[in-house]
Amino acid sequence: MIYDAIVLGVGGMGSSTVYHLARRGLRVLGLEQFNIGHSFGSSHGINRIIRLAYAEDPRYVPLLRRSYELWRELEFAAGERLLFITGSVDAGPPNGAIVQGSLASCKEHNLPHEVLNSTELHRRFPGYCYPKELMAVFQQDGGFVLSERAIFAYVAVAQSLGAAIHARERVRSWDVKRGSVIVQTDRETYRGKRLVVCAGPWASKIVRRLENARLATPERQVLIWTQPHHPERFQLGKFPVFNMEAVESGRLNRYYGLPIFGVPGFKLGKYHHRKQKVDPDRMNRECDATDEAVLRRAIRNYFPDADGPTMAMTTCLFTNSWDEHFVLDTHPEYPQVSVAAGFSGHGFKFASVVGEIMADFVEHGGCTRFDISLFRSTRLPTEKQ
Ligand SMILES: Cc1cc2nc3c(=O)[nH]c(=O)nc-3n(C[C@H](O)[C@H](O)[C@H](O)COP(=O)(O)OP(=O)(O)OC[C@H]3O[C@@H](n4cnc5c(N)ncnc54)[C@H](O)[C@@H]3O)c2cc1C
Repeated sequence: MIYDAIVLGVGGMGSSTVYHLARRGLRVLGLEQFNIGHSFGSSHGINRIIRLAYAEDPRYVPLLRRSYELWRELEFAAGERLLFITGSVDAGPPNGAIVQGSLASCKEHNLPHEVLNSTELHRRFPGYCYPKELMAVFQQDGGFVLSERAIFAYVAVAQSLGAAIHARERVRSWDVKRGSVIVQTDRETYRGKRLVVCAGPWASKIVRRLENARLATPERQVLIWTQPHHPERFQLGKFPVFNMEAVESGRLNRYYGLPIFGVPGFKLGKYHHRKQKVDPDRMNRECDATDEAVLRRAIRNYFPDADGPTMAMTTCLFTNSWDEHFVLDTHPEYPQVSVAAGFSGHGFKFASVVGEIMADFVEHGGCTRFDISLFRSTRLPTEKQ
């Protein structure tokens, strides 16, 4: 049997890709090395922030609009609520990249928003205790997606549409022979007309050129959940998700966080936690006192009412590209092979639309109706590196 497409990796991006391919009536096989829904990759930890006032670049906004639509479509198909709207706060020094980037997206795409100083923000959302030099952009459409549940939902709906999904089956190698793709796992050999690589932190082990081009470098991250002294200030409906930067001892640090949901605690993480580049097969998955201290400092400084006992901590992985934009492209030597990688710690909210784009690549030979020029693997490094 020859599959129309084989999807390597059934995490955030892969589960959505399998769904979109199955929905188009294609014969699809999804291969996952661990369980469906595991905690060794990038998508666990209950939920992920979604925000429309996109500080990273206004060109993400059209993709985000489609992502919201597709998350709602998945909720309908799965009969389950997956997207929660809390509003979002993008905060930092007034001239910093987050505030200016968020405002640029709001202006370019006409997004309703409010600019608040730290006193106004605290009055409105008392969990926030920012110093007076920080400013915030509040945008009403931000919120979070239940990332773990979304993967289960995509897998279940894809299966009901006829997709084959095999967990606990690791892809060892792939090759292109006489126009079709041969995929060798630790159990079987499969043939497909197309291969879509959605391997998350393992991407550069599957497609070596990603590593050489610094498009998918895995990095260890840590999340913490703490019990607030005033839980009512961090409840759903009372606390918008946030993305913030602050100058601390001369360094610009960036944090993100979410209201209490699932784990009974306020959730916070630091972008590029301790700047640890790792091999995902050998990473230290334990959290230690240094990890906790890094995150505690931010909680104490900006959310003192949440500085209670630790409820949970977990490690996770970013997969960074050199410019922190995604990689959505076909392989330069093998047009049958396409890659979704390098999500650089901000990809999950887009998983719904990334699946649609990767299904477009399969159906239309690397083309899609979306403007994805920002994500081509051939984009050139700038002085930034
Ligand atoms: C701590 C943390 C917080 C984050 N917060 C946010 C946020 O708030 N908002 C947001 O939008 N994004 C956020 N992100 C980023 C987002 O979670 C990721 O961009 C997204 O989950 C990446 O999905 P993925 O499918 O690429 O990776 P994964 O979900 O890890 O999926 C890759 C899959 O491929 C499988 N695989 C790899 N190699 C093989 C092989 N050889 N054979 C078979 N299977 C294989 C893996 O086992 C894995 O299941 C965060 C990330 C982290 C780590």
